[in-house]
Amino acid sequence: MANDNPSPDNIRAMLRITCADAGVLLSDYHDGTLPADDRERVASHIGGCVACGVILEQIHTTTLALRAVGSARAVPEQDTIDRILARIHRA
Ligand SMILES: [Zn+2]
Repeated sequence: MANDNPSPDNIRAMLRITCADAGVLLSDYHDGTLPADDRERVASHIGGCVACGVILEQIHTTTLALRAVGSARAVPEQDTIDRILARIHRA
């Protein structure tokens, strides 16, 4: 018999995913590119799973670090060049 009015427990059960499922989706969840239903499942899982919450935090930290590297200047500052040249000339 079909149940047209699932109880809150049934809804929670439908939203439940494993850590492996969440792990596959975490990066896209972090980037905000998941479809709404997957996003809800992952959010619900993270709400009750410390391990996946830690992984999400690590994804966030790594993303910030990569952004910092990406925006870093490849050319040294002028005072760094001057200091290196001064050392070479002193040698
Ligand atoms: Zn988990």
